[in-house]
Order: sequence, then structure tokens, then C-alpha cells
Amino acid sequence: MDLGIKGKTALVLGASQGIGRAIAEALAEEGANVVLVARNGEALEGLAADIAGKHGVEATPCPVDLSDPLAVTAFCTRIENEFKPDMLVNNAGGPPPSPSTGVSDEVWHNSTQMMLFSIVRVTEAALPAMKARGWGRIVAVGSSGVVQPIPNLAVSNTIRGAVAGFLKTLSAEVAGNGITVNMVLPGKIETARLGRLDSARAEREGKSLEEVRAASQAELPIKRYGQPEEFAKVAVFLLSDAASYVTGQITRVDGGLIRSI
Ligand code: NAD
Repeated sequence: MDLGIKGKTALVLGASQGIGRAIAEALAEEGANVVLVARNGEALEGLAADIAGKHGVEATPCPVDLSDPLAVTAFCTRIENEFKPDMLVNNAGGPPPSPSTGVSDEVWHNSTQMMLFSIVRVTEAALPAMKARGWGRIVAVGSSGVVQPIPNLAVSNTIRGAVAGFLKTLSAEVAGNGITVNMVLPGKIETARLGRLDSARAEREGKSLEEVRAASQAELPIKRYGQPEEFAKVAVFLLSDAASYVTGQITRVDGGLIRSI
């Protein structure tokens, strides 16, 4: 299947590792140019050189801290005037684990800034170029917690629900401009973040990391964690020309984790 994205430009947030990195690699494999966003400029430069060398595309490192509103404002100016992306991958880190109460103002503010306010502004900045071309793709990386709140990830569950509401509303507003907006929900994808969450759970429950990982994988119908590349393939399809009639959808890539229909 021709995905029709060769030569187009994708802005990928949270691209230095994990799911974001896998999406950037998969887009480049299809011939798309990528702008790679995360905090660590050095890591991004290495990754950009690697992707450009491997796939013969343009890969541009763009260090931004998405929890810093001033940095995001400057980044948005670059998006509008310089990057003008065809595709946008809204993705970042996740908040620390916690129950619903007793969370500091700092964690609520920083997490909301990074995961919601920045996503709103970055999306706004990406839209004019997409509207001008009459073609655009926006995919946000969410969490299974949007459908079924995950115990002890209260901040994530809360903010991601708001992001889902924003994206669904937006999808109807821009569908007539040839722009699709979708959300993809990871269940348990084997990344550094999942490793940190499993380690925290092992400590809380007084178990070894291996015990926690084995129990967690056994609970999944598919009996194993997903790989970032498996997630990326679905995201890239939704970012492609092939998914032209799919918008406003929430797609789970979770190995069957969520049991509801
Ligand atoms: P990860 O921690 O491995 O990677 C996160 C990426 O975001 C990295 O590139 C990191 O540098 C970047 N990032 C973090 N904070 C940032 C900031 N302030 N500014 C700019 N960039 C920043 O995470 P992952 O596992 O790849 O997950 C990606 C997203 O999906 C996260 O929001 C995570 O919470 C969510 N998620 C992941 C899983 C999973 O199974 N891995 C499950 C549910 C939800």
C-alpha cells in the first residue's frame, strides 16, 4: 500500500526515545522528512543524523521543553514560519504515578502545561499550513487510561481525558479542510516510561521488577508487552494518505488490555 507521505514533513514531539522515536523512524522509512522535538538537543542531533543517513530524508533536531510556556511560544513561531508541517504527532512524557489526591500544585501545573496547553498551542500553530494545502494529519499519543482510568496514574488519566475532548472537537472543525485528527492509545508498550512505572510498582508492592513484569504481561490477552515499532505502524497509517476517511477516532494499540467493546 502506498501511504502517500514521501516528501511530506512531520513534526514529531517526544521524539528522542520510546514511542515518539519509533514513529519518527517509521515515518522516515516511508520517505517523510521529520522534525524531532524533545528536551535533549544532543540526543536529538545524534538521532537526526542517524535517521537522515539511514533513510535519505531530512531530519531536523529541535530541542524544546514542552513544560515551559515561553519555549513553546517560540517553538510555535518556528512551526508557523519555518516547519509548516503536513503531519503532527502530539506526544510527550507522562506524569509521575500517584493517587488522585495529595498531588502537588507543581506536578498538576507542569503536567497540564506539557500534556495539554502545549499540545493545544502547537496544534494551533500547525494548522495554517495544513489548511493552506487542504491536507493535514494530526495524531496524538494518549493512553488506555482515556478509556479505563489506570489505578495510581490519576494525573495522566485526568489530563488525557481533556486532550481527547480537545481533539474530538477539533476533528469536526477541520475535517472540511482535508485534515484528520485521531488519537492512538498505548496499553503497555515496552519503553523507558513503562520501565519506570513497573519499577515504581515493584517498590510499592515489595516485589522484584521481574515479578511485576511477568504478572503485568500475564494479565494481557496477548501475553506480552508491545514494541514501540508495533505502535508506530498504526500511528503512521493514521498519519498517511491511506487513512483519508478516518477522523475523530480513538484507536487502541494495547494487545487487548481494555476489555470493553
Ligand atoms: P518515554 O518516557 O519513553 O518518552 C517520552 C518522550 O517525551 C521522550 O522523547 C522525552 O524526551 C520526551 N519528553 C518528556 N518530557 C518532555 C518535555 N517536557 N518536553 C519535551 N519532550 C519531553 O515515554 P513513552 O513510553 O514513549 O510514552 C509516550 C507517551 O505515551 C507518554 O505520554 C506516556 O505517558 C504515554 N503512554 C505510554 C505508555 C507505554 O506503555 N509506554 C502507556 C500509556 C501511555
